[in-house]
Amino acid sequence: MKTIGIIGGMSYESSIHYYERINNQVNELAGGLTCAKMIIYNVNFEDIRVLMLNNEWDKIGEELARIAKILEDAGADYIAIATNTMHKLADYVQKKINVPLIHIADCVADKCKKSDVLNVGLLGTKYTMVEDFLKNRLKENGLTVCTPDNTDVINEIDRIIFDELCKGNIKDSSRDYYVSVIKDMINKYGIKGVIFGCTEIEMLVKQENLDIPIFDTTQAHIDSIVNYSLEE
Ligand code: GLU
Repeated sequence: MKTIGIIGGMSYESSIHYYERINNQVNELAGGLTCAKMIIYNVNFEDIRVLMLNNEWDKIGEELARIAKILEDAGADYIAIATNTMHKLADYVQKKINVPLIHIADCVADKCKKSDVLNVGLLGTKYTMVEDFLKNRLKENGLTVCTPDNTDVINEIDRIIFDELCKGNIKDSSRDYYVSVIKDMINKYGIKGVIFGCTEIEMLVKQENLDIPIFDTTQAHIDSIVNYSLEE
């Protein structure tokens, strides 16, 4: 069994799911008392958030690369960054380490392709929706990807993530808002599925709230991490 290295804490609300589900799924597949060999480095997200708001992405990159190296040196056979937004720095981090980084966009794109759903909407933080780092990776995987194009909508989706979901605060009004945004994207772009490109959105919106399939990056990432850990 391989040893997993996770960079977590962004937010810890979603990292909890990584820890719990990776262990559960490894146990389901391997049986007995088997659980995952896993090292988690939980960052202080407040420090990272300050750097994000100051647009100091080079410093965040250095910190993530430093942590990835610590995990590698501690015995991790591969690394997973448990957030979509920080995949803005995935290529930089990968160059600084000698073990593979499991890219969250590749994992969710595989799920879309297996379901034959290639025209998708993408929701996430404003970085993930406005910038190209995740969208391009999804497109390289063969998907057609659209995001909300209205600045107020983008800001409200982003606000709900940082002010509510990252603190474990689940509100019906926010769920209604997300569902209405997804319905607008169905009408406007004809999307056949929606990617939750933020590791907290699955806590808010569930499949029963929507008529099109959800492709959740948290679960897709976890599934790949588990499969990889058990590969020979
Ligand atoms: N967990 C979120 C994501 O998947 C947002 C937190 C962050 O900025 O890393 O993008």
